Amino acid sequence: MSLINKLATDLSEADCFDDRDGRPWSTAYEHVISKRMMSEHPLAAIAEVRDTYQAASAPYRVLYDGQCEICQACVSWLKTLDRDKQTVCLTISEEILSALDSRLSLDSCLKQLHVVTPENEILVGWDAVACLARLFPSTRVIGSLGQWFPFRNVARSLYGYVARNRYFLSKCRGGACVVAKPEAVRRQARLATFWSCYTLGFFIRLPLVLWAGVKAGAQRASVFVQTYHKRIDLLSGKLTILFLNGVLPNSVPLLFGELFTTLLYDGIAIDPGSPKMRRSLERHLLRVKPEIIKIVATHAHEEHVGNLNWLSDFSRAPVYVSEMTGGFLTPFKTLPWVRALIIGQPPDLKQPYRLLGDTVETKSGQLRVIRTPGHSEDHVALYDAGEKLLFAGDAFMGSYFATPNPDVDSHKWLVSLERLLALDIEIMVEGHGHIYTLRADIPDFAGVVIRQDPKTAIREKLTYLRWLREQIVAGFEDRLPVRVIEATCFPWGNRSSWETCASDECIRLLSLGHFSRTELVRSFVRTNSDALPTVYEVRLSRSEEPPQPPVAS
Ligand SMILES: [Zn+2]
Repeated sequence: MSLINKLATDLSEADCFDDRDGRPWSTAYEHVISKRMMSEHPLAAIAEVRDTYQAASAPYRVLYDGQCEICQACVSWLKTLDRDKQTVCLTISEEILSALDSRLSLDSCLKQLHVVTPENEILVGWDAVACLARLFPSTRVIGSLGQWFPFRNVARSLYGYVARNRYFLSKCRGGACVVAKPEAVRRQARLATFWSCYTLGFFIRLPLVLWAGVKAGAQRASVFVQTYHKRIDLLSGKLTILFLNGVLPNSVPLLFGELFTTLLYDGIAIDPGSPKMRRSLERHLLRVKPEIIKIVATHAHEEHVGNLNWLSDFSRAPVYVSEMTGGFLTPFKTLPWVRALIIGQPPDLKQPYRLLGDTVETKSGQLRVIRTPGHSEDHVALYDAGEKLLFAGDAFMGSYFATPNPDVDSHKWLVSLERLLALDIEIMVEGHGHIYTLRADIPDFAGVVIRQDPKTAIREKLTYLRWLREQIVAGFEDRLPVRVIEATCFPWGNRSSWETCASDECIRLLSLGHFSRTELVRSFVRTNSDALPTVYEVRLSRSEEPPQPPVAS
């Protein structure tokens, strides 16, 4: 077995935190925190494979305690600093140590950091930290000073203090849990342990969280500027994407990254935006002068349906919606004030409107109408089999979308994604300005065209949602509070959890809690199938009593 294969096996096992050495890893938190999220999260799995492949070639091998929050947080820092992939981080296990170097012992590795250099020198504790620090420009000074008296002596004693006490600080995954029998520990005490550990992990990574937030903000601003009042003509003019803007709606692409669009495809106008984007839409239409024969809405969210009446008057084309969407639009419910203020309250849909059947005739062909509940109960996607083109509306929303709104039913979303996966798709156009395709006839457009096979993207989302479902069901079975389940869905050990943390919390704050990571947990326990947009069908207990397990669906 090659070293790479050996390490691949070892790594996948090592990250499972088995019940070895009689450690009581069986309490609810440890079970959910360690075993499930660290080993089965798709992102963790991808990272493991990447690390494994680097193991044979990366010059510096870093051995760390995967059960310690402090060690894991330091690894997050190391991976961020190490842009040139000079290091590979391996969690400690007997198998990995013996595969790497016979001089390494489990006991000494658990006590302090060990680094094996390209020359097979083993550095320990502060000397290992200083050696790693010298690898990167931003920490080189610290690493260089740290080799010499008196800095070296001070740093060694400081390092020794933290290393000796890290189990005290990082109880949840560390050895301190050994003292307590899980059944005998009261809920409050275990919660405090869990949160102290989770909070510690957050604060050690806080500068990384903030930096990732700033970087993501800059990227969103750049895409916003490039798409401001723009349009893209594709497929020899058969498909046109109109980017919509408006004074207050502009805050959404800048803060959340979702662009507003109207799609024109072969005589069909799809999702004509909200009243506050009407001037932008009108300006586009006066310039393009498209022939519109039908207007279709994918679902009844305000940024998709607010201009249906107006566009119908403007173009003299009839409006087509699904029966359920029609019901939601007549009358349109009153939006929460923050959404009404920013996006705009749509008017009630004017009669007569037409109902979508199984297909919609376009100028030169037809689109299949596919029911895709999940993002909202009434959602439909449109599919052109000839062009292998899917108009997904909001039925995709990126592979790792983590802040859904209260309409989302993730069980239904999973079924809808499986339905979409059965289609032959080469181009997937989303409702918020992203196109997934590998096709060469779709030109590059930074921040809009994503060079990924649409079906791979859908598969990734399915894997992520299935992992979340397991995680959340396990959490409810273990009778964990919702906030704890939420935390277990975003373990700091997964890079995406802290990288998107600043943006996700910003979204939670600005939407007054309507779009949040908490909604992601709730989205797996919807019980009422007659979901109305923005109505909270499920109000989970906010009292001390843990919520009941969801009914499987
Ligand atoms: Zn939507």
